[in-house]
Amino acid sequence: EETRNRYEKGKKLGEGTYAVVFKGHLKSDPASLVAIKKIKINANYKDGLAMDAIREIKFLQELSHPNIIALHAVFTSKNLQLNLVLEFLPRGDLEMLIRDPKNVHYGLADIKAWMAMLSRAVYFCHQNFVLHRDIKPNNLLIAEDGEVKLADFGLARSFADPYEKMTHEVITRWYRPLELLYKARHYSGAIDVWSVGTVFAELILRQPWLMGTTDIDQIHKICENCGTPLEENWPGVSKLENYVPPAPSAIHPIPSKAAWLAKFGTVGPQGVDLLRQMLVLDPSKRITARGVLEHEWWTSDPRPTKKEQLPKKG
Ligand code: ADP
Repeated sequence: EETRNRYEKGKKLGEGTYAVVFKGHLKSDPASLVAIKKIKINANYKDGLAMDAIREIKFLQELSHPNIIALHAVFTSKNLQLNLVLEFLPRGDLEMLIRDPKNVHYGLADIKAWMAMLSRAVYFCHQNFVLHRDIKPNNLLIAEDGEVKLADFGLARSFADPYEKMTHEVITRWYRPLELLYKARHYSGAIDVWSVGTVFAELILRQPWLMGTTDIDQIHKICENCGTPLEENWPGVSKLENYVPPAPSAIHPIPSKAAWLAKFGTVGPQGVDLLRQMLVLDPSKRITARGVLEHEWWTSDPRPTKKEQLPKKG
């Protein structure tokens, strides 16, 4: 039987910029809840390209890991709409927790638990040659048992057509590394590690760390906070398409360990060390996802909160 006929679509759960999400279940088993995400494929893409998108997304179906949202099936419906049948995760996302300080209280052990789950997800993706490309708190969904699941692989988005005009919410450049802002043609898993670092900073500060209003502004904010990239600290950077050599008076030095500690010290010296290594400008010197998992912060006190005991949305 065709995949599209195996699922019963239920009520609408929500709507994002690129998709409408419905509750659903297997016709053969009403207890098997899923989320069906209907993505509108941009009309400019011909059938062949849509098929390529589906082939690539199907590759993601193979990625099975406790910290990655399960993609149970993919099918197209009328008007070339791409339907992703996803694990049902109705407990919100990390952004909801970060943005609700009145009702949601969390501490260092909780940050460590969430960061560990995110880091394991990213390591698993990279081990399988998949880059996520769009890691941010809103894409970290929470399961019933507290497990954090990396969702919304950017891939589907690149084929999508926004339903509404893009809002600041959508053009989220705040988690993007300099190599992407400079339009590097070759990039690696280091782009995801940068994003993980910015999520780490946001969990600590309880607000997004570098909120650029334009791509240029984002570049400036990164330079102010992480130092200005130069050939001497990032060999090859001056050859990237969007790189503009700074005026000597506009050069920010790479901040000292003490400067990082002053801003993010609540996670302790080891936590700050990990954060700094994730936010190294030169992607070839940035810590890898594997390096992240091997860092001593995880085993230093306090130990991460057990997932069942993590704070939940109000
Ligand atoms: P956004 O990224 O703006 O949240 P999405 O298209 O990813 O947009 O999702 C829209 C809404 O659908 C979400 O805010 C959420 O309420 C719901 N949703 C998305 N994915 C799931 C899921 N796997 N399980 C349950 N609800 C979901």
